[in-house]
Amino acid sequence: PAPVLTLDGPGGAGKGTVARAVARELGWHLLDSGAIYRLLALAAERAGVDVDDVPGLLRVARGMRLEFRPRADGGTEVRLDGEEVSTEIRSEACGERASRLAVLPAVREALLARQRDFREPPGLVADGRDMGTVVFPDAEVKVFLTASAEERARRRHKQLKEQGLGGNLTDLLREITARDERDANREVAPLVPAGDAVTIDTTGVPVESVVAQVMSRVRE
Ligand code: C5P
Repeated sequence: PAPVLTLDGPGGAGKGTVARAVARELGWHLLDSGAIYRLLALAAERAGVDVDDVPGLLRVARGMRLEFRPRADGGTEVRLDGEEVSTEIRSEACGERASRLAVLPAVREALLARQRDFREPPGLVADGRDMGTVVFPDAEVKVFLTASAEERARRRHKQLKEQGLGGNLTDLLREITARDERDANREVAPLVPAGDAVTIDTTGVPVESVVAQVMSRVRE
């Protein structure tokens, strides 16, 4: 199978930015697994399915058609059943719904194959919470990115603003902390570094330097 680099960690730790940069440098495919959970949250909401209705969520998960297309600006255009939803899935409300349905083992199981399908030559950079522990346990290189909660809230705030989405810093800090807690304490695929992952604390570290550190691990 094609080689995989996994990038796991809490929200706002810089995974997305680093994953994109590293994938571009290597010429590898990119999996933003959080987007798949967010897409299920949006698809379920549109179908009137609650975040704790397991049979309903499984039906939506099986039926939803997802497309990821690279954009010229380095971003990704995300489509759900043919409709562009790139900005819509970035809202904090959608992230919150995603983290609620992500605690359900049957739902996680139903999304496994969709994630593993991204593993194609010449290689894959996979960004998420359980990439190194559950989805690609045999990955060649595993990285766990962290940062202080304050810094992660600041980064989220900046990202949301760039996309024209609102949110004040105090609320974001509270939401990020609540989401971390749910992700870390769930019974299946909790947010923990894989035993063989290297942890990089990105607090106060410029993104180029994090990218360089990750690249040097890949080249080893
Ligand atoms: O990373 P992002 O904020 O887009 O993820 C949204 C939510 O989806 C996370 O808070 C987490 O609960 C869930 N998720 C997950 N496993 C992944 C990626 C995301 O449980 N691999």
